[in-house]
Amino acid sequence: MKAAVFKEPGKPLSIENVKDPMCGENEMILKVEQCGICGTDLHASDGGSMEPETGTIFGHEFSGEIVEIGKNIKSSLKIGDPAVSLPFISCGQCQHCMNGNPFFCSTNMQSTGMGPEVQGGYAEYVRIGLPESIKIPKGVSWDFATLVEPLAVGLHGVRISKFKQGHRALVIGAGPIGLATIQWLRFFGARHIVVAEISEERKAMAEKMGASLVIDGKTPAEELANIYQEETGGSPDIIFECAGIPTVIQNCLEIAAPFSEIVVIGVCDKPDTFMPFLGIIKELTLKFAIAYVKDDFQFTIDMMEQGRINPAQMISQQIGFDSLPTTFESLKTSKDQCKVMICPNH
Ligand SMILES: [Zn+2]
Ligand SMILES: [Zn+2]
Repeated sequence: MKAAVFKEPGKPLSIENVKDPMCGENEMILKVEQCGICGTDLHASDGGSMEPETGTIFGHEFSGEIVEIGKNIKSSLKIGDPAVSLPFISCGQCQHCMNGNPFFCSTNMQSTGMGPEVQGGYAEYVRIGLPESIKIPKGVSWDFATLVEPLAVGLHGVRISKFKQGHRALVIGAGPIGLATIQWLRFFGARHIVVAEISEERKAMAEKMGASLVIDGKTPAEELANIYQEETGGSPDIIFECAGIPTVIQNCLEIAAPFSEIVVIGVCDKPDTFMPFLGIIKELTLKFAIAYVKDDFQFTIDMMEQGRINPAQMISQQIGFDSLPTTFESLKTSKDQCKVMICPNH
């Protein structure tokens, strides 16, 4: 099959013919319809603590059609069904898996698109596990199905926070994770969704997605807290850190009001410093979110099917293999785009 292969940090992805994935007894093969490019992929390809092995095929935000089903599988899923999958292959039997939380699988969980063990969706075919897979209903388009993963990240962050209807929120960063978070905050009835963002394009997207106020991301913490107070008549009950860059947690600690919560969803793998004393004197809660549980996927799909969430604006561009390597490189510096999707079979 055709795939985009990671060679080494600093080198563009290489479009190559590679071996088709082999379907295990408890696994399935998806013919990839679309796969989103994620900031994590861009970041990993630059090396550092997330650097994958040479030969890795990225892609953990995919949708596709089931073309092969492992011989041990007894399931209502059939060949020809459109499906998505959490990007993990887990045991499906341990306590965490039974709770729909395969990320914490206690036996040899493998992440899709992070290393050559389970190759990702920048390819014509991808191997998926049964417990993590969900059929896409008729009313949900391929475009929306491919956005289930990034939306589930935002949903999970909101769900594990202490957010309640009527709360005031502050979202730092309006990349795909921030935009997903904004949509769910609106969905669940936030009173105010104030967004701090640097890029003009992303500011405009935040407004379209339901932000009640967009503030320039360079605004110093104290000034930002004052603007928040003036514009909303209160302070944020929860701050969602969706930028994933050093110094942002310190900013959140400075902005946060007493007893409020900071939820870190943005992925930062660089050392960072902050002053714990700020959190202590305000008795803050600092919480970290990882990925999603299976129901975050299912809930997102259900809400899409019922037309209650519409993330169409998140899609910036759809591309084929030809322009993938150059587009992938350009996304490392440009912040104008939201979701770029690869269509490997078109
Ligand atoms: Zn991602
Ligand atoms: Zn397990």
